[in-house]
Amino acid sequence: MTDSLSEVRAIYAGSNGEATRALYVRLEAQGVDGQLAVNLLRAVKNSTRAKLYRGHGHKGAAYDTKGWAIGNLCRLLSEQQAAAAITRWGWAIDDAQPHHRHVLYLDLPTGQVSFHAEHRGSGPEYAGAWDGATSSAERIQRWAANVLDGRAGAIESPASWPPSIAIGEKVDHVLGEARKGQVRDHHCHWPGCTRQVPPAMWGCKEHWARVPQAMRRKIWRAYQPGQEKTLTPSAEYVAAAREIRDWCLEQERQAQQGKLL
Ligand SMILES: [Zn+2]
Repeated sequence: MTDSLSEVRAIYAGSNGEATRALYVRLEAQGVDGQLAVNLLRAVKNSTRAKLYRGHGHKGAAYDTKGWAIGNLCRLLSEQQAAAAITRWGWAIDDAQPHHRHVLYLDLPTGQVSFHAEHRGSGPEYAGAWDGATSSAERIQRWAANVLDGRAGAIESPASWPPSIAIGEKVDHVLGEARKGQVRDHHCHWPGCTRQVPPAMWGCKEHWARVPQAMRRKIWRAYQPGQEKTLTPSAEYVAAAREIRDWCLEQERQAQQGKLL
């Protein structure tokens, strides 16, 4: 990982206002790409916050900041896209969403990113389609690091990313996969449970909730987004899944014993 990427990651994950402002000043010194990166970081951070604060008072402020940052992005791109490393952007509709169904897409050199919004902002219709990934935060942090390093146009393929993706990103990926519905036969891994669950998920909601938290954490740590498609889980993941299976079997055995006594 480059120094800039570790720096952007640390600031993004933390809540140090002074460090955040210092980073934004350095990014803005890089011109229009830097200004875009600042607003992308703001939008994605407040988008995550708004989800976290759902049902709390902070949610409104996070949405306001996200909306303001999205407005800045549209204005910058409308006026200065020719000078930016962003090749394509625009608005589309996500029919699967009842609210916040307008989607702003931007094609960064590190991959496509998107934001849902209640209202459509200014700008063109997006000529592409969603690429199926849910890694906007990761792609934005990678691009911001490249902008800091003066390599705003460097093309990066998500496939070449090292396996250091934050758990929040993995959760987003799995939830995104779950929203697509059932794509192949795959049932809950709890012994005897036949409930169908998306291949990216270990098991049904009820049984996953019964697995001890320490074991669930091991699964999240080992899980690599996309392994459900390539069918190549790591040895670490297989070991974590085996530990859970043994624990489940023990639970079932004790339950049976309880019935017999
Ligand atoms: Zn189940």
